[in-house]
Amino acid sequence: MKVFVFGATGSIGKNFFSLLKYFPEIKPVGIQAHKNEKKLIKIKRKYHIKKAFLTGERVESKEISSNKENLLEFVMSKQVDVVLFGASGTELADIFIEILSSGKKICMANKEIIIAFGEIIKKKKGNNLLPVDSEHSSIFRIIKNLEKKEIKKIFLTASGGPFYNLKKTELKKIKKEEALKHPRWKMGEKITVDSATLINKGFEVIETHYLFDIEPERIDVLYHPESKVHGIVLLKDGTYISHIGETDMRIPILYALFYPEQREFRIRKKFYENLNFSEIKKEKRKLIDLCFKALKDKKGKPAFLIGADEALVNLFLKGKILFTDIEKILLKIYKKAPEFNDEKFEEVKKAIETGKKYVYEELKWFSQ
Ligand code: NDP
Ligand code: MG
Repeated sequence: MKVFVFGATGSIGKNFFSLLKYFPEIKPVGIQAHKNEKKLIKIKRKYHIKKAFLTGERVESKEISSNKENLLEFVMSKQVDVVLFGASGTELADIFIEILSSGKKICMANKEIIIAFGEIIKKKKGNNLLPVDSEHSSIFRIIKNLEKKEIKKIFLTASGGPFYNLKKTELKKIKKEEALKHPRWKMGEKITVDSATLINKGFEVIETHYLFDIEPERIDVLYHPESKVHGIVLLKDGTYISHIGETDMRIPILYALFYPEQREFRIRKKFYENLNFSEIKKEKRKLIDLCFKALKDKKGKPAFLIGADEALVNLFLKGKILFTDIEKILLKIYKKAPEFNDEKFEEVKKAIETGKKYVYEELKWFSQ
């Protein structure tokens, strides 16, 4: 299996490469990263990878290229069987949509693109799009043999992140290092902060809608601190199906790569520790509810949120704003968000940029 890996230098990339020793039939033939040239070259040499692309810088050398046309040409060629899309952000949305439209199999970890460009993607996708986000991978496994009318509700589980039980006054003092310590998953910085504010779960609601074409009224979120059950589906006859697995991203990556086949991969841990579920506390739901609202409002609102949240998380990571400012500013600027035609690519890009712009405008006002 010849694989092209977007986001090879990140956390999804790391999980992918750690699968290679178990599955010699997986052959990485191409890799992409944004700016980390050193690490990209290291990976290229270590795994004897044919092509490496750095899309966030201008480089042209024997080992690395930043030419996006060449990248696309290579990915679309017969030299690549499967794409693992683990690059973050929305900058490569055009490339993603081209690959998706070509019918090539694409295992999708990135959620920002699905959320922001959902209205465009839903018309282009066939069954070549496989979810890698753990909750969506679980839901996919559960519903793939169900008819849509049999599904009453889809529940996504939320670990709650590291601060679920902290009060607002305590949250204000949160430092970057604390926000980057997720209790269950080891992931990139942006998604880890998103998990701590719980907007990640709201984003995953929107992602669920666009991946599985399920209305927002039929999606809900549950607090499940052990992160063992990743998805639950309520059926028409009142019974539930859930999927249990370790918190290990290699599992959904492996499943998507080989789907419809399943490979042997044993993580020998117990699944029968105490499993707890409850509704998400009201005061922790604010950003989840905002995402539900954006999904219902549509008209570029999910893209606006993606842009605004990206800007805010960056500012928090740079120590420029408080942890609690992320929620506060998102709730505030959303009210002023303009409408965009979400079926047009350029308009969605504008919605994302507008989200970022509103954050900076709001902060200027803040500091006066
Ligand atoms: P990381 O921050 O660890 O890695 C991001 C990767 O994307 C790096 O290879 C980085 O390259 C590249 N990248 C960064 N910015 C851009 C950009 N503007 N354009 C193109 N590529 C870029 O993130 P994760 O691996 O944690 O997450 C990747 C994606 O997968 C995200 O969309 C995330 O939401 C999703 N996801 C991740 C999970 C996880 O367990 N990590 C779980 C579920 C979803 P460079 O190193 O050069 O900056
Ligand atoms: Mg997830």
